[in-house]
Amino acid sequence: MAIGKLIDWMRRKPATEPLPDALWQETLAGLPFLDRLDSEEKSRLRALTEAFLAEKEFTTAGGLELTDALCVSIATQACLPILNLGLENYRDWVGIVVYPDEFVIPRVIEDDFGVVHEFDDVASGEAWDGGPVLISWRDAQMAGEGYNVVIHEFAHKLDMLNGEANGVPPLPAGLARQEWEETLLAAYDNFCTRVDAAEEHGEETELDPYGAENPGEFFAVMSETFFETPDILQENYPALYAQFCRFYRQDPACKAHP
Ligand SMILES: [Zn+2]
Repeated sequence: MAIGKLIDWMRRKPATEPLPDALWQETLAGLPFLDRLDSEEKSRLRALTEAFLAEKEFTTAGGLELTDALCVSIATQACLPILNLGLENYRDWVGIVVYPDEFVIPRVIEDDFGVVHEFDDVASGEAWDGGPVLISWRDAQMAGEGYNVVIHEFAHKLDMLNGEANGVPPLPAGLARQEWEETLLAAYDNFCTRVDAAEEHGEETELDPYGAENPGEFFAVMSETFFETPDILQENYPALYAQFCRFYRQDPACKAHP
C-alpha cells in the first residue's frame, strides 16, 4: 500500500513549466486588481501559478475550448488568496471544471421532516469538499469590481480544510477561533440587516447581497471584496478587514492607491 501511494505521488509529481512572458502579461492586463501587487509579489504569484498549473487538472464542459489563457487566468486568481499561505492549502484534490456559462447542479436535499426534495440549482461556481472546483468562464471574466467567482470558490476551498464551509477556515497561530467568529458574525449580522433593509426599499447594497445567505457565503463574498475592492470592505467592516489581513497575510487596501 505504501508503494502504491508512492507511485501515485510520483505520477502526480508536478513538472513545472515556465509561463511564457506574453501570456503572463496578458493575464495581468486582464486582472487589473493585481496592479496592487509589487514586482516581488507578482513574481511570486507567477511562480505559484506555474506550480498550481503543474499540479491541477483543467477540463471543460459544454463545448468550451480549453485554452492556455483560460487556465492561466483562473490559476492566477486562485493563487492570489494563497500568495502568502502556500499551495498546500489546495491539497487533496486536482480538478477544475470550466463551463462556458452558468450551469445546472441537480440537488437532492432531505428536510427536517425526512422529505426528500429534488431540484435543479443554477450556479456560477461550486467547490466540492475533497473534489473539484466548478467555474463558469463567463462569470470568471467579470472579475474586477468586487465580483470574483474564482476567489469565491477558492475561499470555500480554504474554509473546507477543516470541514464544511461555515466561514471558519483553519486559522493561523495567534488568531483565536472565538475572536474570528465574533468579528465575522458581528459583521455578518450587520450585513444581513442592511440587505433586508435594502430589499424592503427596493435598493441595492454596495456589497453582494449573496453574502447574507449564511456565514460560509459571507466569508467567500467578503474575500472577493477583500482582494478586488479592499477599500470598500475596510470602510464598511474595518475589524473584519483587519482580521482578513491577518488570515491572508496581505493588506491590499494599503496599496489601493499606488
Ligand atoms: Zn459560495
